[in-house]
Amino acid sequence: MADETQNLSRRDMMRIGATGVAATGVAVAGVGSLPVHAAEQASGKLPTRRYGRTGLEIGWLIGASDWSKELVPRAVAAGVNYWHKAQAWNKDSIPAVLKRQPRESYYLECVVDRVNGDHTRGKIDEEQHYQFVKHRLKESGVGYYDVFKFHFDYHSIEEAKSNPGMVRAFERLKKEGLVKHLAISQHHYNSIGGDMAWEIMHYLADNRPYEATQFFYTYGDRKEVQEWIEVAKKKDIGTIAMKTMGGVGRASHDAKFQKLLADPRYKDSTPAAAMVKWLKSNDNLTAAVIATKNFDQFRENAGAAVLAMTPKDHEMLALLAGYNKGLTCLLCAQCVSACPEHIGVTDIFRYERYARDYRDLDRARKEYAALTRNGTSCVGCGECLPSCIQEIDIPAKLRDVHNLLG
Ligand code: SF4
Ligand code: SF4
Repeated sequence: MADETQNLSRRDMMRIGATGVAATGVAVAGVGSLPVHAAEQASGKLPTRRYGRTGLEIGWLIGASDWSKELVPRAVAAGVNYWHKAQAWNKDSIPAVLKRQPRESYYLECVVDRVNGDHTRGKIDEEQHYQFVKHRLKESGVGYYDVFKFHFDYHSIEEAKSNPGMVRAFERLKKEGLVKHLAISQHHYNSIGGDMAWEIMHYLADNRPYEATQFFYTYGDRKEVQEWIEVAKKKDIGTIAMKTMGGVGRASHDAKFQKLLADPRYKDSTPAAAMVKWLKSNDNLTAAVIATKNFDQFRENAGAAVLAMTPKDHEMLALLAGYNKGLTCLLCAQCVSACPEHIGVTDIFRYERYARDYRDLDRARKEYAALTRNGTSCVGCGECLPSCIQEIDIPAKLRDVHNLLG
């Protein structure tokens, strides 16, 4: 069985490496003339980039512990070597393909959340975070985690200044050789009177021992995110983009959008491939998390990650951006500051994304149900409308999302 899996992986690798993403409709003709690293093309492997001060050389696509058993070996063969949410694996569920390899040949990230909470609730508690990681190490038998990642993150610079509990838990574990590097997954908190992700990350880069950051980033995003990526590169802070595929999922299920793709202008590109190539074209960005449900999606993304953008990809992104206008929230949180009701519009529309783009209605409904203020709190005042970079009718969309998830 193991050999069969390996053989499949090799065949898949050949498809990714030798024929690029032909199976997805993206042509490879002319690839040789594009400025792609020859070694990347020759090996068919994902490119790697240095994850900031951690010094880890990580594959450009990030793997996740919730990927299917069938997908993981293929992803490993393609060069995925960094696994987030790895704390979810125990001795029985950690993929055999990883167990077979020397431990130092792949990187495991342990997500550490606020205690008894979510993004807006819960507390930072040094002892409990310390014990949590020790417990997960015992259950998983992996020996150590390469990256300790604070999730359900700082709500404000003030909290990052005054509450050292997460950093202390990391430092204790590091002394014992149980974790190696410190990272954070940072969200915006203007809905609860806190700071924006980039404000907090700028502070952490200069004042706390965080070596790497993860944050929302997609095509058309705010300039402050772009600026953070540039600054992070200069300061040698690693950067992984999350929620990267703004609108790609819903467009792929929209018959009207699919009809538009018949135009020769878009031949030889796809929304997903164009988005991957665009993300990858930012040399300052270390890597990307892309929600991946099956091998076809992975193959499309991995194939695109070894290619450079073409004029057709630019056309495709322009088409997608037009489709997204008025429809797809980019999770920028600009509107939230204007809302007198302090509605977490970004969170609500993020859950809509789980439902409409990832097709995970259960998760979307579960997250939506946990909100203290949902779409019904909107009084329709319209204060948020001028700030929306996507020109979305926010009150109408809140009603629509509530009907879907409420
Ligand atoms: S319309 Fe609704 S979401 Fe927009 S600012 Fe008013 S209350 Fe907030
Ligand atoms: S609704 Fe508009 S302003 Fe608000 S987070 Fe989404 S894209 Fe940004």
